[in-house]
Amino acid sequence: NLQRLRQIQPYLWTLPLQPGEKRGEVLLYGSAPLLESMDDKVLEQIAHVAALPGLVGAAMTMPDAHWGYGFPIGGVAAFDAERGGVISAGGVGFDISCGIRSLRSNMRLQDVTPKLATLADRLFQTIPAGVGEEGALKLDPKQLDQVLLGGAHWAVQQGYGNEADLDYIEERGCVAGAIPANVSELAKKRQRGEMGTLGSGNHYLEVQVVDRIFDEAAAQAYGLQEGQIVISIHCGSRGLGHQIGTDYLVMLAKAASRCGIHLPDRELACAPINSPEGQQYLGAMHAAINCALANRQILTHLTRETFREIFPASKLETLFDVSHNTCKQEHHVIDGQSRLLYVHRKGATRAFGPEHAMLPKRYRAVGQPVIIGGSMGTGSYVLAGNSGNSAFASASHGAGRALSRRQASARWQGKQLIGELAQQGILIRTRSMRGVAEEAPGAYKDVDSVAEATEQAGLARRVAFLRPKVCVKG
Ligand code: 5GP
Ligand code: MN
Ligand code: MN
Repeated sequence: NLQRLRQIQPYLWTLPLQPGEKRGEVLLYGSAPLLESMDDKVLEQIAHVAALPGLVGAAMTMPDAHWGYGFPIGGVAAFDAERGGVISAGGVGFDISCGIRSLRSNMRLQDVTPKLATLADRLFQTIPAGVGEEGALKLDPKQLDQVLLGGAHWAVQQGYGNEADLDYIEERGCVAGAIPANVSELAKKRQRGEMGTLGSGNHYLEVQVVDRIFDEAAAQAYGLQEGQIVISIHCGSRGLGHQIGTDYLVMLAKAASRCGIHLPDRELACAPINSPEGQQYLGAMHAAINCALANRQILTHLTRETFREIFPASKLETLFDVSHNTCKQEHHVIDGQSRLLYVHRKGATRAFGPEHAMLPKRYRAVGQPVIIGGSMGTGSYVLAGNSGNSAFASASHGAGRALSRRQASARWQGKQLIGELAQQGILIRTRSMRGVAEEAPGAYKDVDSVAEATEQAGLARRVAFLRPKVCVKG
């Protein structure tokens, strides 16, 4: 890869144009070793993204980037509706608004250690996880529409969690512009029993311990201390989001062809933002974002109940809830002028810097919490958004895959991995041994390198490293 790239800063690279190639700029964030080991499909994919109409600035990849459907995972691209800009379902991802909610606790590692196995067992019993696993909640069509309009607000109104949670969710827990009527009956049907469920594979609920603090001031603002227990919930919009992705891929492909948009890759199906199809997708996507926000709110509530049952004095507060599969309307200053852009972040986290108006007061001085999942065996990071982020206020969302699921399941065995992790004091609970093998810590890039590169590239700065203690795997 490195031979094809040109380094412009220590942690920033560009992909030079080939003779006759017509597209916008491509920027890749990361260290030389990360870019060298990245699958080369990423370069092809991001170059295709840079060729889409109405792109503003560069099409970018974050340090954790790897191959995805259409857009690479770890891809960021902004479009201007007034200049023919497009919206792409592949640029959002199938698991619309997949994200991570982290909760800080009033407990320390030594408080939970004696009851760790009980905690793992009870969380596994109360958090519905696995393919097609349903929750206790069954919604009728009217109720589901309320979820799609209300997001986490709906969940709080139903008694799942509290108002204080909402302050620490992007967009205060509910995005405007959701149109339930744009969501197919099939998508809704798939979701009726799936509210408050984790899903499968890469999704998890993890009990973690703060292992190291990098930035004292930010850690204090976030309420984090060494030795403290934190819980992170990674999941998205379940069957509903996936079905919307499937439905709209077809519709957007037709729209692209009707509007004469040349697609360098069929998987990049997209429509002008200002077209009926583009607007229809936006309405459905916003509904799916609210679905995901409500889902993580319900799971937060279930987690609190389980903790209180075992540790009656436990208190879990929302540190932050951040999505990493979205397209958001945001104002960004381009050449000294504020413009409304549609920023696709696919496997990338928004990372607002200090003083951003959308941040809760408590975090204003230090910037938005950025949550990076690593793996069930290594650890995860909390970072803080920077001012002067050059990637439309975006950062990494994980360690990123180094091996495909197939490669991983051929190399590792779930049962053996669980045994090895238990020896290290990490308890895994799952219904799918294959899932564990696919998610083996070795299948992911080195999260320390990704977090360091994210910081060195100026995208966000490290605040805390979290070590896993219990992982309920989907
Ligand atoms: P994605 O949203 O792209 O599926 O996953 C986000 C990130 O979560 C991955 O890049 C990976 O680093 C991380 N991840 C996957 N499984 C686990 C897990 O069990 N525990 C933790 N802490 N991180 C994980
Ligand atoms: Mn995710
Ligand atoms: Mn997901």
